[in-house]
Amino acid sequence: MSKKGLPIIISAPSGTGKTTTCKRLIERLPNLKIATSHTTRKIREGESEGIDYYFVSQEEFEAKREKNDFLEWAQVHTEYYGTSFESIEKHRQKGFDILLELDVQGVGSLRKMDFEGIYILILPPSIEEMTKRLKKRGTETEESIERRIKTGKEEIKSYKNYDYVITNFEVEETVESILAIVRAEKSSVSRYVPTSEDIKEILD
Ligand code: 5GP
Repeated sequence: MSKKGLPIIISAPSGTGKTTTCKRLIERLPNLKIATSHTTRKIREGESEGIDYYFVSQEEFEAKREKNDFLEWAQVHTEYYGTSFESIEKHRQKGFDILLELDVQGVGSLRKMDFEGIYILILPPSIEEMTKRLKKRGTETEESIERRIKTGKEEIKSYKNYDYVITNFEVEETVESILAIVRAEKSSVSRYVPTSEDIKEILD
C-alpha cells in the first residue's frame, strides 16, 4: 500500500537561481532525491562528479544513448544532457520522490510520453535581472552569457508546457511556494493510496 515516488520536474532559464532553489528543496524534503543527469559539459568549480552531474565524454554519452539508457536527452547550448532510467529508478524503487532538473526540450519529451509528475517553471523577475545574475556568477564567457540569454528567452515562451510558474524574486519565498505545491499535489485525490487494510476494504 506504499505510495510510488512522485517526480518533480523543474526548469528555469540559466541565471534564475534554480541550483540554489533545488539545494534548499532537498534540505527541506528528506523524501526527495535528485536524479543526477549525465552531461558532456565541463565540470565547473565547486561541482562534484556524481553529485551535480555524471561528467562524460561525447563518445560515452553517445554510447549510452545508443543503448537506450536515457529516459530523455537534449542538446542544450553546445552540450548534451540526459536523464538515465537508472538515475530515477534507483530512488523510485525505494519510494523516494525524485527531482529532475530539465531544460524545456526535456520537458517537451516527457510531456509527449505522458510522464507523470509535477512540472514547475521558475522564471527570473526580468531579463535584466537574469543577465545581472549570470554576470555575477562569473562562470561563463561573454559569448556563453549571450547564448544563455537567448535560450532563456525561448524557454520563457514555453511556459504553457508546465503546471506551475514561479517567479524567483527571493529564493526562500520560491522554495516555500514549491513546498506548498508539492504538499497540495501529494494530497490530490488521484494520488490517494489507502494507508491501512481496513480503509482499503471500504474502498474496494
Ligand atoms: P547547466 O549547464 O547550467 O548545468 O545546465 C544547462 C541546462 O541543461 C539547464 O536548463 C538544465 O536544467 C538542463 N539540464 C540538466 N540536466 C538535464 C537533463 O538530464 N536533460 C535535459 N533535457 N536538460 C538538462
